[in-house]
Amino acid sequence: MSESEHIYDITVIGGGPIGMFTAFYAGMRQLDTLVVESLPELGGQVSTLYPEKIIRDIAGFAEIKGAELITALHKQMTIFPDFAPTIATNEEVTTIAKDADIFTLTTSKGQYKTRSIVVAIGGGSFAPRKLAIDYDQALENQRIFYFVKNVAAFAGKTVAIAGGGDSAIDWALTLENVAKKVYLIHRRDQFRGLESSVQRLQQSRIELMTPYLIDGVTDSAADLTLDLKQVKGDQHVQLDVDALLVNYGFTADSRALRQWGLPLEHRLLKVDTNMETSIPGIYGLGDCITYPGKVKLIAAGFGEAPTAVNAIALNLYPERRQPLHSTQLEH
Ligand SMILES: Cc1cc2nc3c(=O)[nH]c(=O)nc-3n(C[C@H](O)[C@H](O)[C@H](O)COP(=O)(O)OP(=O)(O)OC[C@H]3O[C@@H](n4cnc5c(N)ncnc54)[C@H](O)[C@@H]3O)c2cc1C
Repeated sequence: MSESEHIYDITVIGGGPIGMFTAFYAGMRQLDTLVVESLPELGGQVSTLYPEKIIRDIAGFAEIKGAELITALHKQMTIFPDFAPTIATNEEVTTIAKDADIFTLTTSKGQYKTRSIVVAIGGGSFAPRKLAIDYDQALENQRIFYFVKNVAAFAGKTVAIAGGGDSAIDWALTLENVAKKVYLIHRRDQFRGLESSVQRLQQSRIELMTPYLIDGVTDSAADLTLDLKQVKGDQHVQLDVDALLVNYGFTADSRALRQWGLPLEHRLLKVDTNMETSIPGIYGLGDCITYPGKVKLIAAGFGEAPTAVNAIALNLYPERRQPLHSTQLEH
């Protein structure tokens, strides 16, 4: 069956922590599940905004790093080989349509059919904040990067990293071990990272270019030449590098809920005690929803996921028994 004919039981829109846990739980209930995530990586706010932060309010963990939580969720999500979800990354859901009992999702890459939808888009669709200068777009993913997919691609290269937060510092420290030379360009003299990371940065071989802004980028066969302009000054410095990694943070676009015509309250998806919206078959979880007493915490979203998935399972497969405990599945 081609992908366009395949009909999923559940499509989870958004691969943040809540979407990931939902996909695990749906697998445990043996539902055919698709996760669509607009970014190249799963993990939502945790991966994009605070992978190095220690989280202290996840049940069972006195402390866990953001990135470790996402790795653990990924492992858990794929633990039932026959019911591991299909994962579509780098693909943004743009419209939702319903015909009889089947929904059609249109994405930036194609279409999917599904019998139910779980909207778990958190604060909205994330996109990296781009360089605020004109440059040849063809350089993206060739010499100008907003994500690192493969550290080895920077081996032996001269790399400039732009940004002054945790993410820029972490990448600078990581690439220092593989690149020939690393520059870190920031518009202020102070960095906004964890104290321990800033200390490691100061003790590293990374050359700090502060306070500078990137004022222009020129590409030649040999190099990418960065024109750096001193902040509150006229001095310009030219830097020849092989690659530029931009870490200016992310913007979140929360217009999707309105564009999809879903029932909202204070711009959030309004759900009932089953986490279902007033449109049958469309559920919501995590940071994008509201109900009396809602709190925007990972632990709260984890709790909402089984409620929604079990309601969906009962609706799609009324003959199946309701869930017991996960340990009773083998019997
Ligand atoms: C700095 C910071 C620190 C935090 N610390 C804590 C903490 O210590 N403890 C805690 O419990 N919570 C913490 N939070 C809150 C926590 O991160 C959120 O509650 C949690 O990430 C919500 O998860 P989610 O899956 O609902 O949404 P998100 O994490 O926002 O994930 C949503 C995903 O959906 C994707 N998406 C959006 N639109 C589309 C679309 N149209 N198509 C496809 N994909 C789409 C996005 O790209 C994103 O990956 C913190 C938040 C921040 C910003």
